[in-house]
Amino acid sequence: LSPKRVDLDPFVDNCVKLVSMRARERGITIATVFDDAPETAFFDPDKISQVLLNLFLNAIEATEPGGSIDLNVNRPVGSSTLVLTVTDTGCGISDENLAHIFDPYFTTKASGTGLGLAVSHNIVEAHGGEIRIKSIEGEGTAITLVIPTKAEQT
Ligand code: ADP
Ligand code: MG
Repeated sequence: LSPKRVDLDPFVDNCVKLVSMRARERGITIATVFDDAPETAFFDPDKISQVLLNLFLNAIEATEPGGSIDLNVNRPVGSSTLVLTVTDTGCGISDENLAHIFDPYFTTKASGTGLGLAVSHNIVEAHGGEIRIKSIEGEGTAITLVIPTKAEQT
C-alpha cells in the first residue's frame, strides 16, 4: 500500500472521467455529491481509484439506459472516516447473491470474472476500512466504502 495525502476533488473527478464515456454510451448519468466532505484524505489513490472503478463499472452494467449513478463523498459529523457511497438505480442484488458478493470468482455475468468486489474488499480492508452493501432487488444498490482518515499523517 502507498498511502498519501490526496486532494479529494481532483481525485474524484479523475475516477468519474475514467468511466464517463462508458456511462454516456449506455445513457447513464453519473453525479458526484460532496456532502460534508473533507478537502483531503489519506489513502492509496491508485488502489482506491481501482475500487471506485470496479463499483462504477458494476453499477453501469446493472443499470438500464436512462438510469443514474451517484457518488456521494462525506465525513460523518464527529467521525474520522471518509465515506464514499456509489448508488445506482439498477437491478439490485438478491439476498442469496448478496451472501456471496465478496467471494472470489462469484459472478452472475456470462463473461464476468467475479474478481472486482473480492479485490475491492481486500483493498479496503488493507486500509483498515470496510465495505457495506445495501441492495433492493428491482430498485438499486448502494455500496459504501468506509475509510479511516489519518489526520495526523501528511
Ligand atoms: P463481475 O462484475 O465480474 O461479475 P464483481 O466481483 O465485480 O464481479 O461482482 C460480483 C457480482 O455482484 C456481479 O456478477 C453481480 O451479480 C453483483 N453486483 C455487483 N455490483 C452490483 C450492482 N451495483 N448491481 C447489481 N449487482 C451487482
Ligand atoms: Mg465487476
